Amino acid sequence: MTGEMKKAIGEVISLCRGARESGMELVPASLLRRIEKMGKEIEKSRNLRGRQTAALGSTDLSSLEQMVRNCNLCDLGKVRKNTVFGEGSTSPILMLVGEAPGRQEDIEGRPFVGRSGELLTKMLRAIGLERKEVFITSVIKCRPPRNRTPNKQEMEACLPYLLRQIDLLDPRLILCLGSTAAKALLKTERPLSRLRGSFHDLGGRKVLVTYHPAYLLRFGGSRLLNLKKQAWHDLQIIQRAYEKIEGEKKH
Ligand code: URA
Repeated sequence: MTGEMKKAIGEVISLCRGARESGMELVPASLLRRIEKMGKEIEKSRNLRGRQTAALGSTDLSSLEQMVRNCNLCDLGKVRKNTVFGEGSTSPILMLVGEAPGRQEDIEGRPFVGRSGELLTKMLRAIGLERKEVFITSVIKCRPPRNRTPNKQEMEACLPYLLRQIDLLDPRLILCLGSTAAKALLKTERPLSRLRGSFHDLGGRKVLVTYHPAYLLRFGGSRLLNLKKQAWHDLQIIQRAYEKIEGEKKH
C-alpha cells in the first residue's frame, strides 16, 4: 500500500469519526469498524518499521540489547518473563543462532540454559570451544507459548535485531541451529537435510546449518546415531574453518 493510500484511509477514518460524533452516519458502523481495523494495522506496521529502522541504527550492542528488552513489536512481548538477547564473546569468530528461548531461558534471560543448552555446551567442547568464546543467540528473543515454532509475524518483527547483532559482532562464521535459523538467515525453504554439510554465503560470512540440539534430543537408537554422525561432521567443518581463521588472525 502506498503512503498516499495510507494517508487517504487515515483521512476517511477521521472524517467518519467526526461525523458520527455530530450524529451523522456517513458509513455504516460495520464498515467503519473494518476501516478502523485497517487503520490500526497500518499504524502497527508503521511502528514496526520505525523500530526496525532504529534497531538497524544502533551503534553498540548494549543499546540494541536495551531496545530488545523494551520490545513489544509482537504479542510475545505480552507473555514473556524475560527477553533473551544472547551472550558470549563480543568479538567472536563464531556466532550460534538457535530458534527461540525455551522455558528455562525465559526464566533466566540467558540463551541455551535448558536441556538443549547442556547438549550445545558439550557439542562446542567437542570441538575445543567454550561458550564464552562464541556468541550464542536465537532468531526470536522471547519465548513462544508452549515452545511452538515462531510464526511469520514474530520472525519478521525480530529478525532486524539478529541482523544488527551480526553487523555489530561481525563473526566470520555463523552456525544455524535448526531450520528456523536457516530459513531466517538464508531466506530459503529448502529442508535442513539439503542445507547442512557445507557453507553458504551471507554477505561474505560463512554460514553452516546443522541440527538443533533439541531435535537431536528427540531421538534414540539408530536414528540418533545417524543424526549424531551428521552433526559431528558439521561440527568438524566449523572446527576446521574456525582454526584456520584463528591462525590467520595470529599471523
Ligand atoms: N533453543 C533455542 O533455539 N534458543 C535458546 O535460547 C534455547 C533453546
